[in-house]
Amino acid sequence: MNSEKLKQALQETRDEQHKNRQIELKNEQLAYEKCPALVQLVNDRRNLIRESVISALSGGVPENIEIRMDELNRSINKELRAAGLPENQFEAVYTCELCADTGYVGRHKKELCKCVLTRYRKLLTESYSMGDSHETFENYDEKVFSDELIPGSRASQRSYMNVVRNTCEQYADLLPRPAVKNILFYGKSGLGKTYLLNSIAMRAKERGVAYISITANSLLNRIRKAYFSSEETELNAIYNVPLLLIDDLGTEPLWENITVEQLFALINDRFSKGKCTIISTNLMLTELQQRYTERISSRLLDPRLCKTIQFIGDDIRKRAL
Ligand SMILES: [Zn+2]
Repeated sequence: MNSEKLKQALQETRDEQHKNRQIELKNEQLAYEKCPALVQLVNDRRNLIRESVISALSGGVPENIEIRMDELNRSINKELRAAGLPENQFEAVYTCELCADTGYVGRHKKELCKCVLTRYRKLLTESYSMGDSHETFENYDEKVFSDELIPGSRASQRSYMNVVRNTCEQYADLLPRPAVKNILFYGKSGLGKTYLLNSIAMRAKERGVAYISITANSLLNRIRKAYFSSEETELNAIYNVPLLLIDDLGTEPLWENITVEQLFALINDRFSKGKCTIISTNLMLTELQQRYTERISSRLLDPRLCKTIQFIGDDIRKRAL
């Protein structure tokens, strides 16, 4: 486990505990303000609990303790109702009932609670995510694309890209369950692939869908490193995150057969588990087939598994000049 991230997850759990104690105090204060008689009643209840603990420790049987406790509870609830407050006004507030926000469970052998592990996994995933990008659907500017007709076509690059943009936005709005889970962007560089990849990531973030955005080069480096050091946590995040965006496939160095094998294992696993994956590449489809073998390309080019979107036209960076 990544000890830095684990420390942070435990700290977040303690922060949550602290925040909930503050809420409890506020609830208590509010009740006393609305109904001052409660101060005495709650105090009596505390004393009664103390009394019963002390007498239990000294082996004695406290007198009428249940009857007295019942009476006190009934009086407290009556006052709460009269003040228009719920009966659980004085109850402890927990974000996680399992560990009462302590982060640990188990009486004899303490173990990390599920809530800490969930926080830990989220932190790990976030460490792969990019910061806020201005490349969003909202900021999309169609004017960067030429509005002249593409030779041999009845559409301009601008109108074509508007359709592509809308397709991507619809996909992002259906995450994590779009009809077709995977997309392959292909075409030369400078046609807006990375922009739309980032727009999808930002929309996923807005909608609370966890994602990892990574270049193919850095992805395969991480997979390779994890493979040789058997660091499985890193791989787990890449295999299981709901949305994985891989930019620039085809620029990473091929490492004998290992790269292709690892990439196939990842794609195959994610596709079969129904996780969403978007891959962008500057390669043409025939080059993709040659470089990554039939096994990978047949999955990427199966329309039931993966939508292919071609990017066409002129390089927008050259056009800007
Ligand atoms: Zn917990």
